[in-house]
Amino acid sequence: MSEFVDTAVRGPQAYSLARKVIDAMEAASVWPTPLNYELWLHYIQAPESPLAVEMRRIFDSKLPFTDTVAEMLATEFLPRSRLSEEIRDAGAVLNRELAAVATAIDKAREVQVQYAETLSEAKEQFEEAAPLSPLSDLITTLARATRRIQRHTVVLERRLESSHTEVSKLRNHLEQVRRDAMTDALTNLANRKAFDEKLDTICADHDEHGGTVSLAIIDIDMFKRFNDTWGHQTGDQVLRYVASAISRIAQMPRVAARYGGEEFAIVFPGETASQVEHVLETLRSDIASRALRRRSTNDDLGVVTISAGVAHRHKNESPLQLMERADAALYVSKRAGRNRISSAQNILSETAA
Ligand code: C2E
Repeated sequence: MSEFVDTAVRGPQAYSLARKVIDAMEAASVWPTPLNYELWLHYIQAPESPLAVEMRRIFDSKLPFTDTVAEMLATEFLPRSRLSEEIRDAGAVLNRELAAVATAIDKAREVQVQYAETLSEAKEQFEEAAPLSPLSDLITTLARATRRIQRHTVVLERRLESSHTEVSKLRNHLEQVRRDAMTDALTNLANRKAFDEKLDTICADHDEHGGTVSLAIIDIDMFKRFNDTWGHQTGDQVLRYVASAISRIAQMPRVAARYGGEEFAIVFPGETASQVEHVLETLRSDIASRALRRRSTNDDLGVVTISAGVAHRHKNESPLQLMERADAALYVSKRAGRNRISSAQNILSETAA
């Protein structure tokens, strides 16, 4: 939380500010979730901040202010999220630095070995060419110095070797930590942070090189009721079931992620709108094709269905706007009775017609 907001929430006006925030959330018809509270707190406290400007744009466009939109805004604008981004970026920089040090150590070791060999060869040639020369004392001194350097080189080599091993271990560990930080532990799909990064890169590439990019947001229908009826453990299995079906269709270059609770996202670079919609339709019917069983009691859990919204990206459209359109299309699927795919394109053409 920024210093500005932090002072306000602990100052004499704190309660009246909190009431204002709650009233504003109610007026905007959003639930007072902790995240929405944080967003609205910033909105009220800093009405000219980039976050407030973006929130106003969303209200004006009459797009639904869903949890996904809130999450996207938090990632992009809230200082705490930015901080964790920075920590991960620092990790990436450290990793690159360590790789460079490892290479430098390797190179130094190679040079040391070559130097020792050159000195030793030079000494032998010198002794062969002029065994009784008056320079013999000098040669002996040089040879002694050479042996010292060689001994030192061996010690240095061992130290470099062990540093190299340590650096490699550290790098692997850091890489593992980074991978874990990018993966959703329950489903093994990418997490939201990893997905947002990928989506940024894919959109930048789309702006530079053209082609097509589509984004789908997928939500498990009635998941809350599932969880409430059968418990969280079964809820987790349902998430894994859907994730497993998603990962079957989301091979590279497609990228899939668990985007939040029961929400998933897939980005499709380089495919036509009809190809993407066909794949999503296959996914939807695949998931709905079998009834699940509760493992502990063998109870019939029934069929799990998903709803999805898909948006095909306009050039130079921001990832946030693309996400908002896909989310609005998902909203249409939900309102039309769930277990279906809606395209943002169709919503626009229906509105225009
Ligand atoms: P999991 O339990 O680790 O199962 C991984 C995969 O092993 C399944 O992928 C499926 O290919 C196979 N498998 C496991 N148990 C059975 C079984 O009893 N019969 C058959 N024919 N194959 C089985 P799948 O189907 O994509 O499921 C992925 C995950 O989704 C599962 O991970 C589990 O967590 C959940 N899941 C799937 N079906 C059910 C179900 O009927 N009940 C519950 N509670 N969870 C399920």
